[in-house]
Amino acid sequence: MAEIVNPGRRAWLQRIAAGFSCASVVVARPAATFEFPAPDPAAALLLSIADPAAVAVHYAEDAAKAEGAKPGSSCANCSAYTGKTGAVAGPCTLFPNKVVKAAGWCNAWSNL
Ligand code: SF4
Repeated sequence: MAEIVNPGRRAWLQRIAAGFSCASVVVARPAATFEFPAPDPAAALLLSIADPAAVAVHYAEDAAKAEGAKPGSSCANCSAYTGKTGAVAGPCTLFPNKVVKAAGWCNAWSNL
């Protein structure tokens, strides 16, 4: 018995099958890997010189340029500074939830 072949139907079925296989590749592809850059937590916490609390104590980010700073004094050698030695910035007990620059200074500086 001869098989009845319909070339139009066969081609159509092959296209459908090819379409499904391509669709499964697209669906199986992992989600896009684009991510927004994470905000720098240290930058977000850095005490701004415009912060009213900083203005109140004449905080400066560079002790060398701070008016009234004793030569050699800076946040890094202040007793209120709790940052790691050699770090660019660290916490200060005067400004909770903020970090100050190690090279900074304010008129609350103390080495007691
Ligand atoms: Fe820097 Fe000390 Fe003033 Fe804090 S209290 S900002 S560590 S000088």
